[in-house]
Amino acid sequence: MTTSDSTESQQAVLHRYARSLITVFGAPQLVLERGDGAWVWDTDGKRYLDLVGGIAVNALGHNHPALVAAVSKQVGEMAHISNFYTSRVQVELAERILEIAQAPEGSGVFFANSGAEAIEAAIKLSRRTCRTGIVAAEGAFHGRTTGALALTHKAAYRDPFTPLIPDVSHVPYNDPEALRAAVTSDTAAVVLEPIQGEAGAIVADPAYLQAAREITTAAGALLIIDEVQTGVGRTGDWFGFQSSGIVPDAITLAKGLGGGLPIGALVTFGPAVTGLLTAGQHGSTFGGNPLVAAAGLSVLATIEADSLLDHVTEMGEHLVGAVEALGHPDIEGVRGRGLLRAIVLRSDLSAAVAAAGREAGFLINPVAPNAIRLVPPLVVTSDELDLFVAALPALIATAKESTP
Ligand code: PLP
Repeated sequence: MTTSDSTESQQAVLHRYARSLITVFGAPQLVLERGDGAWVWDTDGKRYLDLVGGIAVNALGHNHPALVAAVSKQVGEMAHISNFYTSRVQVELAERILEIAQAPEGSGVFFANSGAEAIEAAIKLSRRTCRTGIVAAEGAFHGRTTGALALTHKAAYRDPFTPLIPDVSHVPYNDPEALRAAVTSDTAAVVLEPIQGEAGAIVADPAYLQAAREITTAAGALLIIDEVQTGVGRTGDWFGFQSSGIVPDAITLAKGLGGGLPIGALVTFGPAVTGLLTAGQHGSTFGGNPLVAAAGLSVLATIEADSLLDHVTEMGEHLVGAVEALGHPDIEGVRGRGLLRAIVLRSDLSAAVAAAGREAGFLINPVAPNAIRLVPPLVVTSDELDLFVAALPALIATAKESTP
């Protein structure tokens, strides 16, 4: 065994990574050591503006004092107890989630550890309708566990693992008539993202979500909204569905909820849906333990105390305005809402722009060949966003030079 040494080069750590981890993620781009706010530092001391935010996870940024204090206090008292027991923080977090989701009396929360696990719980919930059909959308991403993978659309993720669970179909996103045609009396649930993050920040029309609500209600099917990426303030609302005015039957959460600690949740709306899962039908050893619950509570409390929902809306609009003001011929526009955004390029340069960004000290995500996703901490400032936008023309120029 080799022990770590703080002077070890990034290359040496990456070499050890390649020899010790299953490389499902490919080679990591950097070895990061610490963070503060919207900034991270690598092991060579180089600083980066983190516009990836752990893929929409680090809601409060890195090293936020409220999160550090809450988690430190909780780990010093009691980190884990199993779900034979509960804790005050777990109950408080469930209550607070129901409150901000404006869920009616009789709603409930199941805590998992990740987005995919929240989706697994949602799939099991849907099976309790005694139907098996699930309709999801083309372009959807719902996770990589085998159940969630059946709902995820991308062939490259699915094909090596078929057969997946049966009776799942995918319809074009934002097309109410396609959805209407696919939903039948065998449909247990329709599962939709309010914004398709992994597809490059493609926003659902409010009318589409309203149609989905009407179609599922008429068919006696559940409408499950996957808020794993859009939830917890990312869009400028607590949850992405809220701007459409619908009330879903269930939502799934993860990512931003723990601010970096692993937590997921299935939230069921109303007693009829909540009652579908009964004692013994689902479980998780770690789900909602006191440590992650304390983290979740501090994330939600800080978003409220620091008026971060308004800040997110403002920063999102600021970013769009600044990018549009560039009037850059290689930029087609900016998609998304709040701080879930994609800068759409006129050609497939995003990977090269991301590489140039890394060199220049910016972490950005080439989510599609022609789209750069920005999902920064919700606390990112306009000055920080401006730094990136000012650098963008040079990053695009470097990308073009490096692309044959
Ligand atoms: N659902 C959505 C909308 C997501 O964006 C993701 C992850 O990106 C998932 C589910 C899966 O979450 P996890 O990676 O925590 O399993």
